[in-house]
Amino acid sequence: MSSLQSEVERRGEEIFTLVDQHPESLFSKAGFYQRMMALSMRDEHFKVQMFRFVDVLASLRRGGEIVRHLDEYFEDTRNGFSPLIRTGVQLAKVVPWVSGQVLRWNVSGMARQFIAGKNARDVMKTLRKRRAQGIGFTVDLLGEAVVSEQEATEYAVRCMDLLEHLVRETEGWKDPLGDGEDLFPVVNLSVKISALYSQMNPADPADAIVHLGGKLRPILRRARELGAFVNFDMESYAHKNTTLELFKMLFSEPEFLHWPHVGIVIQAYLRDAEEDLWNLIDWGRTRGTRFAVRLVKGAYWDYEKIKSRQNGWAVPVYLQKPESDANFEGLSRILLENESIVTAAFGSHNVRSIAHAQALADELGIDRSRFEFQLLYGMAGPIKRALVEMGYRVREYCPVGELLPGMSYLVRRLLENTSNEGFLRAKFSENVSAEELLRDPDELVDQGSNGAEDLEIQTQDRHVGNGASLATPPGDTYENAPLVNFVHRESRESMRTALREVRSQVGKKYPLVIDGKRIWMDKTIASINPSSPDQVVGYLCEAGIPEAERAVTAARSAFEHWSRTPFEKRAQLLERVASIMHRRRFELSALEVFEVGKQWAEADGDVREAMDFCLFYAQQMRLRGRPRLTQHVLGEESYQHYWPRGVALVVAPWNFPIAIMCGMVSAAIVTGNTVIMKPAEQSAVCGFMLMEIFEEAGILPGVLNFLPGKGSVIGAHLVDHKDVDLIAFTGSREVGLRIWESAGKTREGQRELKRVICEMGGKNAIIIDSDADLDEAIVDTIYSAFGYQGQKCSACSRLIVLEENYGRVMERLLSAAASLRVGNPEQPGITIGPVIDETAYNRIREYIEVGKNEATLAYQKGDIPEKGYFIPPTIFTRVNPNARIACEEIFGPVLSVIKVQDLDEAIAVANNTDFALTAGFFSRSPANIERAKAEIVAGNVYINRSCTGAVVGRHPFGGFKMSGGGTKAGGEDYLLNFMVPRVVTENIMRHGFAPEETPLYRDEFRGPKR
Ligand SMILES: Cc1cc2nc3c(=O)[nH]c(=O)nc-3n(C[C@H](O)[C@H](O)[C@H](O)COP(=O)(O)OP(=O)(O)OC[C@H]3O[C@@H](n4cnc5c(N)ncnc54)[C@H](O)[C@@H]3O)c2cc1C
Repeated sequence: MSSLQSEVERRGEEIFTLVDQHPESLFSKAGFYQRMMALSMRDEHFKVQMFRFVDVLASLRRGGEIVRHLDEYFEDTRNGFSPLIRTGVQLAKVVPWVSGQVLRWNVSGMARQFIAGKNARDVMKTLRKRRAQGIGFTVDLLGEAVVSEQEATEYAVRCMDLLEHLVRETEGWKDPLGDGEDLFPVVNLSVKISALYSQMNPADPADAIVHLGGKLRPILRRARELGAFVNFDMESYAHKNTTLELFKMLFSEPEFLHWPHVGIVIQAYLRDAEEDLWNLIDWGRTRGTRFAVRLVKGAYWDYEKIKSRQNGWAVPVYLQKPESDANFEGLSRILLENESIVTAAFGSHNVRSIAHAQALADELGIDRSRFEFQLLYGMAGPIKRALVEMGYRVREYCPVGELLPGMSYLVRRLLENTSNEGFLRAKFSENVSAEELLRDPDELVDQGSNGAEDLEIQTQDRHVGNGASLATPPGDTYENAPLVNFVHRESRESMRTALREVRSQVGKKYPLVIDGKRIWMDKTIASINPSSPDQVVGYLCEAGIPEAERAVTAARSAFEHWSRTPFEKRAQLLERVASIMHRRRFELSALEVFEVGKQWAEADGDVREAMDFCLFYAQQMRLRGRPRLTQHVLGEESYQHYWPRGVALVVAPWNFPIAIMCGMVSAAIVTGNTVIMKPAEQSAVCGFMLMEIFEEAGILPGVLNFLPGKGSVIGAHLVDHKDVDLIAFTGSREVGLRIWESAGKTREGQRELKRVICEMGGKNAIIIDSDADLDEAIVDTIYSAFGYQGQKCSACSRLIVLEENYGRVMERLLSAAASLRVGNPEQPGITIGPVIDETAYNRIREYIEVGKNEATLAYQKGDIPEKGYFIPPTIFTRVNPNARIACEEIFGPVLSVIKVQDLDEAIAVANNTDFALTAGFFSRSPANIERAKAEIVAGNVYINRSCTGAVVGRHPFGGFKMSGGGTKAGGEDYLLNFMVPRVVTENIMRHGFAPEETPLYRDEFRGPKR
């Protein structure tokens, strides 16, 4: 055993001995809280329900409401607690007011376990008590989720007040240790960066740094004057690089250059942590003044894992707990070895991590007065006491604020305390032995199966299923393409380079492509940059009727061989298309920024969706392509399989210029149809790129033909054409209905009944229930209504708010809208760009005028660019559900808010529309959520999230009523629309003899080669 390890064990045992002298339960407050936590550790289902109930409670005002929620959350709780809950609920039903208050009091007690005070005055009681125990403090103001600049400014003001108050109230206080006090001012403030700027966007750290710098400088200046210490807390990974950059920038400024009392957090659970720490140390040495680092493991482990898995990103955190522990120890060494420039604060409750830091400091000859241990308020009291007794400096992290803004903090603490892998649970609840708890984490890391590899294996396994079983969700056999993560500098740089390159290419002329040949025409259509209408992104040759005829002939003749090409080859073609898109990803996104005014992340989302369509449909075709036995029966075999329909006309919109076009084209092609694709005039250069990609992937002449032109001319001609068998259309209701009607007529010489796959618009509603989590509801409503300027068919254009919550919702909604960044989306971090063209611009403005007559204009953003088709985000209130702005599709950044009395009325209003595309519902009432799931009439109903942003395979997308024909793009049924089913039955009995076994699948039926 190494001498360090034996010293760690000696120290650890000493701490444990001291801890055991003052035995205290993990949950120092007895009663309600203790019982809740004990049950939560026993029963995962109870834990989820309990934490959800706690989460909603703070926002409930009436006793009856509290009791109703309690009843709903614990209706099906199966453990020993339920009789108690049941009795409580029965009682509560009789006297709801009393019971509601008792519950609220109990839950507030849970919060008081972790929140040191409601306000600056309140927290002083705690700080004085700690002072008597020889424990210092750092105070953190709760309220991390700000949705608007108004809230961010209020937070900054409160930080300043808190600082002044603390300094005033602690006058004359001394550092408990005395030695080394110059490094550790008594007043220590922890700030959360995300609470100071509402528009932080990973794509634009520079903007965040400018805004945050402006908010922080006055606070820092004052803190320095008052002799206080300021620490930047670290939050989710998305904000990590910005926080580090901000820290380095601010403290390199002449004003703060020689100020040593500043610190930042490094999270040991991050794989980047070591590199970040070295960068900080190098920076510190160049700066030439000490600074501090609080080393922690990290509080967002579950969130980071979920978020990265949802988006297909590499998981930034370690996946094995001992890896985080071992990294904590490695980073402790770096910190202590660089003590000459950095003051270390070890933020942990883990005795092994603490003992290791102590032993290492001794080994390196660093006096214990030169660093400190920090622990959270309400946790690990005996460990704090033991450390003080051992002569170490201990600082307690004391959150201040009300329960509502403190809810995320409280839930993080509850999770941490009940985590299966946490130290505190192991020591204080499960009584794991000291020997076990003090083991070297390096020994515990499972080298054989690094977590990352495990993930990959799981992913591979997911591809194995053939999707034929009802037990396998269709999306589970498919792994989505990842989104680009603009947190990474390389991604941002690639995007900037691509924007420069695309800018240098604008104004080119693009041909038609028919039967594999490029055809140049004199007549062109100009595709305009909506942010800068004098810039022509490209000139597209305009097809007329003769070209449309040529395209039909080419597609018809290509159908002969393409329809007989094995589906495997067709699927592989789509996979090649996806990999070319992956290679050209930034170029495609940049083109969308120029041609249709998409923001960076929106453009990337579109390209990702296009890749997903290719890969998902390739996989689905493999599942559907082989003839499948219909039933096991002796003496006969029947196989069902599918034939393509023929020539498909694909008419796509401009708002998802690559994804929707690619989705319809790839579905048609992989199923064996041949295609004439007509892009929207406004996004025809994107259409050409798609053509070029299919060409590079090896599409055969005639299988895909590119035919830009006027919808009223070639579109109408092709819809009526006798040789067009299938029309896949996404666009406006007006055109969709015309196509539907026209395709219903049988023309002379027509072989097939035309199939129409038709996706149209929506008038989508979001309902905000009286108990909704407004931090989420406001952000997601703003995104759903104004993301891509409200030009998504899924966008929210009606917000239905229950009366009880109306005032609070509107206050936050309006100030959130006022904080949005409107501008040219070439700039990263812009949230609102231009609308697509002049026609849209004029139409939306007309609707705004209509709205002014029908309702109250509650908000319209002022400062928008003069050039370009920019429409300010606009919110109308007092909207009558039957008003034009509440019924007609506007397709722009205009939101109508409708106030309703109760949920009955809310659902009735939401459903009172011609459309049924998407809908959203924000609530924390399990019963109301169930009701919304059952009663809201829409193709895609989203609960507690935005109503836009469907992901292929996960959210098959499409509506009914006047929103479409019920087809679900990106779903397992979609390809069936492009094919006709066929069954082949053979009597396999000969003279009473038949094979016993019939295979479930057989090879494709193939005729003789021609
Ligand atoms: C004073 C103080 C300030 C803090 N400030 C911040 C801050 O600004 N930002 C921040 O993010 N955190 C912060 N934390 C840390 C965080 O809130 C947790 O308290 C801390 O991570 C718990 O670690 P531990 O060493 O006490 O306990 P342990 O039980 O030893 O470790 C638990 C931690 O291990 C990690 N972990 C859990 N499961 C796994 C797994 N399967 N694989 C890999 N790692 C895993 C997680 O980080 C988890 O929190 C702070 C903590 C303290 C004490």
